Amino acid sequence: MSVAISANPPANVDAVSTKRLVIVGGGMAAHGLCKRLIEHSDGTEFEITLFGEEPRPAYDRVNLSSLMSGSTEDDLLLSPKEWYQQHKIRLQVGRRITALDPEQQVVTDDTGAKHTYDQLVLATGSYPWVPPIEGTKQRGVFVYRTIDDLQAIQQYVQQTSAKTSAVIGGGLLGLEAAKVIQNLGLRTTILEVAPGLMPRQLDAQGAKVLREKVQELGVDVHVTRRTESIVAKGSQLSLNFQNAEPLDVDIVLVAAGIRPRDELARDAGLKLGPRGGIAVNRQLETSVPNVYAIGECAAVEGHIHGLVAPCYRMADVLAARLFGEPAVFNDTEESVELKLLGVPVITLGKAIGESTSGVVVTHDGDEGHRKLLLEQGRMVGAASVGHWEDVDLIRMSVAQHKRLWPTQRVRFVRTGTPYVGGTGLPIAQWPGHATVCSCMGITRQQLGTAISEGHQSAPAMSLATGAGTACGTCRNLLCELAGETATPTRVSGATMVLVSSILSVLVGLIVLLAPPIPLATSVQDPWREIDILWRDDFLKQVSGYSLLACFVLALTFSMRKRLRFLQWGNYGWWRAAHASIGTLMAMGLIAHTGIRMGDHLNFALSLTFVLLTIVGGLAGITSAFENRLTGDSAMFVRAWRPKLTWMHIVLFVPMPALLAGHILSVYWY
Ligand SMILES: Cc1cc2nc3c(=O)[nH]c(=O)nc-3n(C[C@H](O)[C@H](O)[C@H](O)COP(=O)(O)OP(=O)(O)OC[C@H]3O[C@@H](n4cnc5c(N)ncnc54)[C@H](O)[C@@H]3O)c2cc1C
Repeated sequence: MSVAISANPPANVDAVSTKRLVIVGGGMAAHGLCKRLIEHSDGTEFEITLFGEEPRPAYDRVNLSSLMSGSTEDDLLLSPKEWYQQHKIRLQVGRRITALDPEQQVVTDDTGAKHTYDQLVLATGSYPWVPPIEGTKQRGVFVYRTIDDLQAIQQYVQQTSAKTSAVIGGGLLGLEAAKVIQNLGLRTTILEVAPGLMPRQLDAQGAKVLREKVQELGVDVHVTRRTESIVAKGSQLSLNFQNAEPLDVDIVLVAAGIRPRDELARDAGLKLGPRGGIAVNRQLETSVPNVYAIGECAAVEGHIHGLVAPCYRMADVLAARLFGEPAVFNDTEESVELKLLGVPVITLGKAIGESTSGVVVTHDGDEGHRKLLLEQGRMVGAASVGHWEDVDLIRMSVAQHKRLWPTQRVRFVRTGTPYVGGTGLPIAQWPGHATVCSCMGITRQQLGTAISEGHQSAPAMSLATGAGTACGTCRNLLCELAGETATPTRVSGATMVLVSSILSVLVGLIVLLAPPIPLATSVQDPWREIDILWRDDFLKQVSGYSLLACFVLALTFSMRKRLRFLQWGNYGWWRAAHASIGTLMAMGLIAHTGIRMGDHLNFALSLTFVLLTIVGGLAGITSAFENRLTGDSAMFVRAWRPKLTWMHIVLFVPMPALLAGHILSVYWY
């Protein structure tokens, strides 16, 4: 048999040592493979010929709907035509391969020309599946997969001035189609045969939340709605259902799923998967030598992938294998991150319905519906509908099968996030609610807003938000966020704060838990010389007024934080002085009372004062540790410090009234 080669090899390619690699299907997977081959190669290993049936090179099918919102065809191209030329890829667009002869290693195109190959890659993708509904072939009924489909829909809407539409299918493609049709200004109704939207990815609750969000966007949704026929009714189309009244619309889009394009392989006698698709092993080899399949047309050990990420991973693996590297395609878990009609839908790791032994923890809140799947206490899957600011962290945790501690479970159910902060991530990836500046209570989100408003350097961020203007421990984080080199922050008085705070907590606990120091009953008692402190009125007044003076002094620290005219001197030393005064006061309380808490008003005063000291001490300990720890523990103390500071302030509030009452009662009685 004579074999015609489509074109001569490029002049600088050694036709003897280079392998003729033919790729059928100029879509996303094929482009991904070319890109990876080029990255690996010096251009001499392969003479690549790429056949694509569509009239243009590979484009971003995922963002097809952006053509309706201002993007051009050129914007969608994954690479311009010149890119193929530059890398010596012989691109044949508008050319369909109609036959494959694996014995002769030849493919035939739609002009009848034959092309020999040393290695052949089938990347023929999928076609839109149209369910067996009567009337789908008539005018006004469309599918949606290619730029041509989109242009035909657009043209029809313009010509007929269509106002209403129905989309058959409530999965990923149906929601994408609804977006397109809505962008064209039509009223849209989604018809899904299953009880919920996205039945492959979402459980009942997730589907319900998605449906509510989609309906809020002005799209009607009918579930458990099986379309039986589409009948022309004047200028309209009438959809008839098994279980509901007919629906009259101007245009119908069928987006009920996809089927792999395996006809070329089937006709050539290649083995197919149990549900169609070209059967390949994890090395992406088909049942015949030197023929591989990647993308949506491949059934990897029986499983067909309908999303672009696994298609690209197949391209990675095949490129490596073509260069003789031992890569395999391992993809049992399919993560999906989509924005459907603007609503984020995420499923990560193991599908929740697929786990037989797993425990599911759920959070429902205003922002949406979230689920974590745990196996043996570790996160193996997650799903959400609605914005999830922690998604980077969750993705990483699911990938690493991180343990979810009981406290984190409780936090997730309550707040929708298991984490108190960014847990060792670069600050750029911290969740919005994570506190960056504990002193001023500034979150990662507030800093993000400041950056988007143009405050991009660390000092500008500080000025705009106040972050880093108090103790300064977070200035390194601001520098990291601004992409600046951080100078190590030495916080003045940090050791003094730590020691004083530990002492405050210890002394506070002693006052709270230890029994009162008994008054001496005889002159032999060893504390005879000491108990004079509580017996002698003058000394009691000295210790009492000293405590009052210390109280006022300690208060100035709080003023220094809030009143601009007091913001002189080094903040670190102010804080150290505040902590030391707190410790002195705790000791002064023992000198004043002998650990007798008193009754009524005095008891209230003593208790409030001791708690104020203990909580203040704990706040001091967290602040001292803030820049000594890293990772989870740093995030933990950073999250707790503002809470403790807040409790310290709350406990302070009744103190002036209690003190005034105490002083008055002493003189009165
Ligand atoms: C509207 C829409 C929205 C999507 N949104 C998402 C999303 O949000 N996230 C996501 O992960 N995935 C999404 N996808 C899926 C994603 O686009 C596909 O997974 C991806 O395009 C698959 O790449 P592929 O190369 O296998 O197939 P394709 O990109 O379809 O490429 C196959 C190409 O091969 C050509 N071909 C077929 N047979 C022949 C032949 N015999 N000869 C020559 N050429 C041939 C076809 O014409 C086609 O151009 C979406 C798909 C659509 C249609």
